[in-house]
Amino acid sequence: MFKVGLTGGIGSGKTAASDHFARLGAAVIDTDLISRELVEPGQAALADIVGHFGSGILDPAGHLDRAQLRERVFGDPAERRILEGILHPRIRATMLARAEQASAPYALLVIPLLIETGQQALVDRVLLIDVPEDIQRSRVAARDGQRLDQVERILAAQTDRATRQREADDTICNDSGLEQLQAAVEAMHRKYLQLAGQRGR
Ligand code: ATP
Repeated sequence: MFKVGLTGGIGSGKTAASDHFARLGAAVIDTDLISRELVEPGQAALADIVGHFGSGILDPAGHLDRAQLRERVFGDPAERRILEGILHPRIRATMLARAEQASAPYALLVIPLLIETGQQALVDRVLLIDVPEDIQRSRVAARDGQRLDQVERILAAQTDRATRQREADDTICNDSGLEQLQAAVEAMHRKYLQLAGQRGR
């Protein structure tokens, strides 16, 4: 299966872009969704998380308290690495299995931290949804009502724009309207159909 890894910073438009790729017929595999599924009650990853972080990391109904977990690992690299060790191999395996099972011309893997986690080699192309930081700030604030200092904290923790641009094979600049974004997605989709077809021959 020809695999495209779609990445970009917070609020860059990954969901808006991947929704359109899905409408066009790409098999969209969202690693955020997979990571949520993997920590549902009864899943082995949740048992491992409770084993390390304690049962206080669950809410009264037995679901993972994601906000608390985020706080626990945010400023603590050692704890973060332990959490990543529990989740990342499972996310990766599930994502690749779903890509291979998909019946579509190609698979689009949405991996927000693709570059930060060095997963470039897992995909045939890295597609970056690129926006200037001031647009990220205003779109995230409008979407989530998040306080600006929270957005700043997330922006500071993510890799910088220049590094993302350097690592990407393809870039869609999402600094204008949704119609322009969709047109750019359509052009990229045509390119991926062609590349996937060439590889299949
Ligand atoms: P996150 O990293 O937080 O998951 P994301 O990269 O998936 O975010 P989206 O949720 O797709 O980003 O976009 C962020 C917000 O900006 C959404 O409210 C979306 O509707 C809006 N948005 C995205 N692209 C555009 C655009 N070209 N014009 C106007 N609004 C946009």
